[in-house]
Formats: sequence, structure tokens, C-alpha cells
Amino acid sequence: MKPTVALVGRPNVGKSTLFNRLTRSRDALVADQPGLTRDRHYGHGRVGEKPYLVVDTGGFEPVVDEGILFEMARQTLQAVDEADAIVFLVDGRTGITPQDKIIANRLRQNDRPVFLVVNKAEGISQSIAGAEFHELALGEPLAISAAHGDGVRELMEMVLDPFPAATDEKEARHPKFAVIGRPNVGKSTLVNAILGEERVIAFDQAGTTRDSIYIDFERDDHTYTIIDTAGVRRRGKVNEAIEKFSVIKTMKAIEDANVAVLVLDAQLDISEQDATIAGFALEAGRALVVAVNKWDNIDGEQRELVKREIARKLGFLDFAKFHYISAIEGRGIADLFKSIDEAYRAAMVKLATPKLTRVLQVAVERQAPPRVGQVRPKMRYAHQGGMNPPIIVIHGNALEKVPDSYTRYLEHTYRKVFKLQGTPLRVQYKSAE
Ligand code: GDP
Ligand code: GDP
Repeated sequence: MKPTVALVGRPNVGKSTLFNRLTRSRDALVADQPGLTRDRHYGHGRVGEKPYLVVDTGGFEPVVDEGILFEMARQTLQAVDEADAIVFLVDGRTGITPQDKIIANRLRQNDRPVFLVVNKAEGISQSIAGAEFHELALGEPLAISAAHGDGVRELMEMVLDPFPAATDEKEARHPKFAVIGRPNVGKSTLVNAILGEERVIAFDQAGTTRDSIYIDFERDDHTYTIIDTAGVRRRGKVNEAIEKFSVIKTMKAIEDANVAVLVLDAQLDISEQDATIAGFALEAGRALVVAVNKWDNIDGEQRELVKREIARKLGFLDFAKFHYISAIEGRGIADLFKSIDEAYRAAMVKLATPKLTRVLQVAVERQAPPRVGQVRPKMRYAHQGGMNPPIIVIHGNALEKVPDSYTRYLEHTYRKVFKLQGTPLRVQYKSAE
């Protein structure tokens, strides 16, 4: 499972500069789409074979204990609790400040590994940059320049050293789906409705609040794993205390699933949080099914309005199926499973090179990629470069000139020909000069 790294430090030390550097290469994977909100505090990074999640906790203000700043500090503390490693930035140009000391004190109380990083150290030697920060008693300070990139790779290699490299173990034998959504939309009710009907084979009582619960069950002779981010089974019937919503938990569940089931509350407007969570699933390339819940509480006239609002605000999820369900009455669940199965099949599809190439040829014959100046991109063949999401790699010449609109045309064609409903699909290019 991908580790999570939290970037912590007082304002202006360079957290967001470092965040941008760490997440930049991944950003290019998802084209900006209307309505897709991307939360600039959470992102994906990778060093060599090691992928990770990174959180920018910008706004940590431990000296203030009221109002919005306190709220931010609380969120930061949650991120610190949930992360697997903490990168604590200080500013090599200004030296130690009282705020650095307060943060250091908090971090020393935590049991997570902390890496003390002296930023803005371009042109300064490691030993000089770090010297005065030994006082923070958080080990050997590491000098970097987030702006110029010096020392960043070395830092991340060190941070990720204890974590294993990514294994390409996406070949799950059965669908593994995560039930995600903001608080109170009905995730627990849905998980209970699903499990109430089925035979539970095993469930894994996860250790900490940052972990989801994994439950294996059978339905119509098929095995599934549900990843329960709401923690229904942990809460049990005795202690119904509502769990704190955790973005990191949600992101980890999405990463580990083949299919994400996004639960929305039909009674409420689509919020920015809904769109952000949907964006995480899209960014991770996961297959997606949307369950618009509490449909029992919406009357006929409202239903049309709700559907229209969803189409408008979540238009970027046009590859996903939407279901209008009532978790509390157990309605719509059978159809939901049909879409989960369909999305799973699409996400894990294996497409042979000759077939992909044939479809490419037909598509190009019907509409060739536009000429750019003197050059017309030439597409020769296609092969599958990955699954969950399916990645189709097109080989040829001058392919860096292909406009986005043409890429979307190819995506659309592949989706239609191979009936890939429910999963994002990526077309990438490889030019032979
Ligand atoms: P944050 O508030 O911790 O997120 O800090 P920012 O990333 O917004 O950076 C604050 C300021 O420091 C900006 O003006 C950055 O351009 C600058 N900065 C960030 N990293 C470096 C660095 O490595 N070297 C120098 N000289 N300036 C930097
Ligand atoms: P979670 O925080 O996403 O796990 O949400 P819960 O499952 O705890 O549900 C939040 C509230 O919505 C509870 O009061 C549920 O009884 C209610 N609720 C959940 N599903 C439905 C539904 O299908 N219809 C109606 N009317 N209420 C529901």
C-alpha cells in the first residue's frame, strides 16, 4: 500500500513549492476537465518504483488556538497522525523561529518518523545549512532547495526507504470495491444493507482509525471484497460514535480498490467535497460507480432537478454509471452490483495488440490526426500499457503534436468498440523520433 507523506512547517518555508515539485509529473496524467476540482493539498508522487501520497498541510498555526487557524491546526494534526512519515520543513535563510520550536515539540510527541528538512539551501553546504537546526532535536537536518530541486530526490529516497516498491499486483481475482463519500451520505447504511443480504466470509479488523475495514463476502456465488471507509464493523452496534472523516483514509481506499463506489446524498446539493472525492478517484484512474442515495426521500419533481444538477456538476464522470438508490430500504442494490461487475471487467480488461491496432487504423482512416505546420503525426500501432485503468499506448512519429481533442476522439472510439463502461481510459503516445 502506498505510504502517505505529510509536509509540515510554518507558513512560507516552502511546503507548497515542494508539494508541486513532488506531484508535478503525476498531474499531467489527468487532463483538466470542466467541473473537476483538484484539491491542491493532496497529491500523488513517485520516486523510482515507489509511489506515495503526499499531503501539504499548509496553514499549520499552532500558536493560535481559536477560529479558523485552530481549525487548520486540527486538520494538520489529523494529517500528522494519519501519515506514515512526516517531512518537517524549516527555512535555511531565516533560521530557527519560535514557531519552528512549537511544531518540533508537537512532532516529537508523535511516533511517526520525522525528517527535518532545511529548505532554501541552494548554494549553501549541507553542514552550514543544517548547523543551527540540531537544536530542534529531530535528528540530522537535511538541506534541500525545493525551488531548484537540489536534494529532493535524496530526501524522498530516504523517506521511502522502509516502504516496499510497487508490485504490479492489480490482478485481483475478484472485485474489490471501496465505498467512499463525505460524512452522512449513507455509506455505513449502504455497507450494512449489502452485508446484511450476503454471506460474510472474513473481515479484517483494521488497527487504527486511519485504516479502512476489509470484508470479503459472497453474492450470487461470486466473491467480492468491500473496503469500508466508514468503519461500520468497527463501530459495531454498541458504540455508534461517528468517525472523523479522513481524506487520507479515503485516498488509500481508492488506491487499493479496483472500483470506487461514490455515495452522494440526493437530499443535498453536490458539494465541493463530493466533487473533490470524485476527483481523487479519477486521478487514481479507478473504475467508478455513483450511488445517489436517499432517493426514497425525494419526490418526483425534485428527482429531475437532482439529476440535472448532478449531470451539470459531475459531468467529468461521464464514463461512470449513476444509480439512484435507497440504502435504508435496500433498493437499487442489485443494479448497483451489475455496474460494479461491469466496471470491474472494463477496468481489468486485456486487449491484444492486433485488435488495438486494427481499431486505431479504422479510427485514423475515418479521421486523421490534424497536421501541425509541416508535420502530420503518424500512428503505427497500439498496445496495452496497463490496466485499472486500461492504458493504450500508441506508437508512431511526431505524436507529441497530437491535440487533446484528437486524444479524446481515440479514447471515445476505444471505449465504444470494447464497451469499456465504468472505467477511465488513458491513451498515451510513444514517438520513435
Ligand atoms: P509554504 O507557505 O510553506 O507553502 O511556502 P511556499 O511554497 O509558498 O514558499 C514561500 C516562499 O518561499 C515563496 O516565495 C517561494 O518561492 C520561496 N521558496 C520556496 N522554496 C524555495 C527554495 O528552495 N529556495 C528559495 N530561495 N526560495 C524558496
Ligand atoms: P455515513 O456517515 O456516510 O456512513 O452515513 P450513515 O450511513 O451513517 O447515514 C447518515 C444518515 O442518513 C443516517 O441518519 C441514516 O439513517 C440516513 N440514511 C442513510 N441512507 C438513507 C436512505 O437511503 N434514505 C434515507 N432517507 N436516509 C438514509
